[in-house]
Amino acid sequence: MQIKNFIEDLIQHIKNKIFSSKYVVKGKCKKCGQCCSTILFSDENGYIKTPENFLKLCKRNKSLNNFTINGKISDVDTNNPQYGALLFKCKSLKENGKCGKYFLRPIFCRDYPSINPSFIQMGGTTLDNCGYYFDVNKKFEEYLN
Ligand code: SF4
Ligand code: SF4
Repeated sequence: MQIKNFIEDLIQHIKNKIFSSKYVVKGKCKKCGQCCSTILFSDENGYIKTPENFLKLCKRNKSLNNFTINGKISDVDTNNPQYGALLFKCKSLKENGKCGKYFLRPIFCRDYPSINPSFIQMGGTTLDNCGYYFDVNKKFEEYLN
C-alpha cells in the first residue's frame, strides 16, 4: 500500500513538473542602467560592505576590477542583511544607459533578470522601474478552460 501511495505521489509530482505553469520574463529593457549600477557582491561571509573586502574579492576574481563602488544600502532595516552593503557600478555602462561591451558581456548579464522560483514565490520582483517583469506562461483561467 505504501509503495502504491509512493508511486501515485511520484506520478503526480512528475505531472506537476511537466504541466504546471512556469515563470517567464516579459517586457523590454528601457536602458535605464539601474541593474548595472546597483550591483551587490558577496563572499562567503555575506554581502561586501567595505572597500577592503571588495579588494580582497577582486584579487580572487579579476573580472570584478570592472566595477566601482557606487553607493551603500542604508534605507533598509538594520537587521536586514543588505544593510550597509556596497553598491557597485560596471565600468562598461555608458552614459546613455547602454552596455559598452554588449556582444561580449558576461553570462550573468545575459541572464538578467534571471528566474529564481523561490525568490519570485516570496514576492521577489525586478528592480523598480525596470522594463522587465516576471509572469507565468499559463494563467489559472487557462487551466480551467
Ligand atoms: S533595470 Fe531593467 S530596464 Fe533598466 S537597464 Fe536593467 S534590465 Fe534594462
Ligand atoms: S557588462 Fe554591460 S550589461 Fe553587464 S553589468 Fe556591465 S554594462 Fe551592464
